Amino acid sequence: MIKCYGMGILNNYLNSTAVEDDVIKKCESLFYKFIWGKGPERVKRAICIRRTVEGGLGMIDLRTIIRANRIKTLQSIIEGSNEQWKVLPRMYFKSMDTKYGDTYYVLKACKNCKMPEFYKECIEALSTLTKHEDLPDSSVKILSQYLWGNPNITIKEEPLHDPIWCREGIKYVCDLFSNTGEIKRDYINKTISNKGSIILKLNKLIAAIPKIWKEVLTMEQGGNDQSLKEQGIHNMFCLTVEGESVDINGLSLKKLKQILVPKLCVSVCEQYWQDKFGDIEWNDVYDIYNNPLLERKIKEFNWKILNKCLSTENRIKYFAESDGVCKLCSIEDENVEHMLFNCDALGEYWSCVFRLLKCVLSSIKVDEQIFFLGFNKEEHPILNTRHVLNFVLAESKWIVWKRRCIIRYDNKWLTDKQMVCMIESRLLQRIKICEYQFPESNSKSNKILHDSLNNLKNAISNN
Ligand SMILES: [Zn+2]
Repeated sequence: MIKCYGMGILNNYLNSTAVEDDVIKKCESLFYKFIWGKGPERVKRAICIRRTVEGGLGMIDLRTIIRANRIKTLQSIIEGSNEQWKVLPRMYFKSMDTKYGDTYYVLKACKNCKMPEFYKECIEALSTLTKHEDLPDSSVKILSQYLWGNPNITIKEEPLHDPIWCREGIKYVCDLFSNTGEIKRDYINKTISNKGSIILKLNKLIAAIPKIWKEVLTMEQGGNDQSLKEQGIHNMFCLTVEGESVDINGLSLKKLKQILVPKLCVSVCEQYWQDKFGDIEWNDVYDIYNNPLLERKIKEFNWKILNKCLSTENRIKYFAESDGVCKLCSIEDENVEHMLFNCDALGEYWSCVFRLLKCVLSSIKVDEQIFFLGFNKEEHPILNTRHVLNFVLAESKWIVWKRRCIIRYDNKWLTDKQMVCMIESRLLQRIKICEYQFPESNSKSNKILHDSLNNLKNAISNN
């Protein structure tokens, strides 16, 4: 919904004018209100913008979209044919070239100067590329770094600018250091005309270079100067992706966005499950979102379980709307684990569900980890068997939640037996739909799917 309607309207606007931070914030809060309703946001936005296969909701990440667009726009202004519309922005980007004696100095050194906000945003977006990458780690990459305006080369966190040195030809790290890591004192002495200030300025520059770079330079041999400098401005539009240099021009906007998105780190909830179960292969867990047997709402429910954001009693207790106690057993506090797995009132229901699972695959065991994170690839390598098993498990959890909500909000008690009837009719109904969606064919995996579903059907009718 948001992607189709929200972004449809926004896209043109975002790509042609400067966007104030306020506007971005407003759009974002609109998007997230759509997801969470009036209440507080229950899962961090950084998690929501992950792709579904990475455990997110695939939410739009406005800031990254804007950045990717700006960088693409900038590259199309600088490179390629000389169209009329590029004349003005190029003039802005060259406005400091005479002073610093280099083409597109403003871009290379991210220097602030007078120009429309939109172009400033373009330059800022480009500068995040240098910041985004971890500090360059190979001597070739280090030697090709631009000295001026570089966010990695700073004194008191301020990047350096020196029009005279730049104009006279000291522009890249390779103008300071040889490819064996020695300081090029002779070369600098020859190049700079004002000899009096050399020592002072040189010391300042050397001090600003990150220590780790100097170490790398003395340890490994770098490339040759000329080739480094020749790459010039184009170098800025190249990214290192998985160890290879890639031209942004060749990347689709989608791919570029993926690269620009902040790197994944373990989320609070992932850490929670890891503390409980030990190391977890998350790709494997999130594979459930590719399960074709599952309806969207079941996937979303599963996502809420993993992100611990269901409105269980112990959560709504904070809003003074509950005493926190499980309404089924009236003994223990209700959190996700208790509600779905540990509550004594569920014993019979789960043994019935586990019986069904055993009819799909007789050798299975369900422990707490499998219960919450699903059947994994390592123990269940056959994809479609795994899909059917996870389908039964996820649907069964959903029914527990549904029953709990009926009891809590509708004040209607449902017995174990009624719950078993609910899950069985729900499964039969879903199987019918799946059989229609994936008709029998001759492929092996299709046969496995239908055999498993048939086993399940038989098990339900024999129950
Ligand atoms: Zn309970």
